[in-house]
Amino acid sequence: MTSTSTFLEGTDISINRLTIRRWLERHVHVRRRPMMDVVLPCTLNQHAAGAVFMGNHPHPYETSTIEKTLAHRREIDSLIPEGSDFTPIMTLYLTDHISPDEVVRGFKEGVWRAAKLYMANQQGQGGTTGSQHGVRDLRGRYPVFAAMEKHQIPLLGHFEAVEEKVDEFDREIRSVNRDLKPLMKAFPGLPIVFEHITDGRAAEFVAEANHNIQATVTCHHLMHNRNVLFWEGLNPLKWAKPVFKKEPHRRKVRKYVTSGHKRFGAGTDSAPHDEVAKCRLCRCAAGIFTALSAVEFYAMVFDEDNALPHLEAFLSENFVGLYGMKPSEKKMTLVRQPRLLPLKVGDVWVEGGGTSLPWELLAA
Ligand SMILES: [Zn+2]
Repeated sequence: MTSTSTFLEGTDISINRLTIRRWLERHVHVRRRPMMDVVLPCTLNQHAAGAVFMGNHPHPYETSTIEKTLAHRREIDSLIPEGSDFTPIMTLYLTDHISPDEVVRGFKEGVWRAAKLYMANQQGQGGTTGSQHGVRDLRGRYPVFAAMEKHQIPLLGHFEAVEEKVDEFDREIRSVNRDLKPLMKAFPGLPIVFEHITDGRAAEFVAEANHNIQATVTCHHLMHNRNVLFWEGLNPLKWAKPVFKKEPHRRKVRKYVTSGHKRFGAGTDSAPHDEVAKCRLCRCAAGIFTALSAVEFYAMVFDEDNALPHLEAFLSENFVGLYGMKPSEKKMTLVRQPRLLPLKVGDVWVEGGGTSLPWELLAA
């Protein structure tokens, strides 16, 4: 990391310019065209060296087979400018149907790099957008996890209990105790990424576990607690899964992240929806679109916690090898200058739209 520092009044050091390695977006949704045409360039413009694409599109487009994943990959590739060295990293959408052999075949042929676990309940209801086709019988998938352990295929897990009776704000910790712990015990060598962690107890578990487990953290969960859903009236633009938690949870997760813990890395879970899906009266779509300015959001969080020296590892280094990547040799630069965000990109409302951020991301 290189930086220019300015001494301000007192002993504070203010970093006004930060040049770091290009980052890895470890969790993003870009949907399908034509929405992909407007949202994928946002990720590319954030100077990511690569991105892990989660394919939870509405059936039958999810990335649940080799053919479907290749089709999704072709669509993404068609929008990446020629000459770009951006690396798309595809994930298998795990269902109750795929065989262990096909999971391994897709991995060996380079179709996918990891498998994404969404869980659905016995009524076929999922915990988030497009997860209704996810795994209903976790134990029934143990032969798949055994194959993944053997071949070191990472499991990227959305760990939230999906039964109607479970309290919305306890879904994550419930799943840790009921699903994740037995899974880790049964497959001690299985690499796991706990996606978009939000609960302080879950973060503590990841930080201290004697297992190859790490967690992605979104910028929106670092910035907001659950009050933001209700402030000045119910706000569908802040409806995301996992739901925002109480302030002590946000603080605890954020402490692990900004203290430089190596098991936590950036994955925005940026999840665009059009205005109709986002603002309908019932069944509002869950997801927040942060792809336009994710790096600036993360920088703001680390800056607020006087932790900018830890930003590079979180964005660009921690567990990138799990996705077959090396920390990028190319650089990007953050400058302390206002960046005004537009309200919308295409038909998608932008997180923080209409406000000005304290940092702007530039090319190196
Ligand atoms: Zn997601």
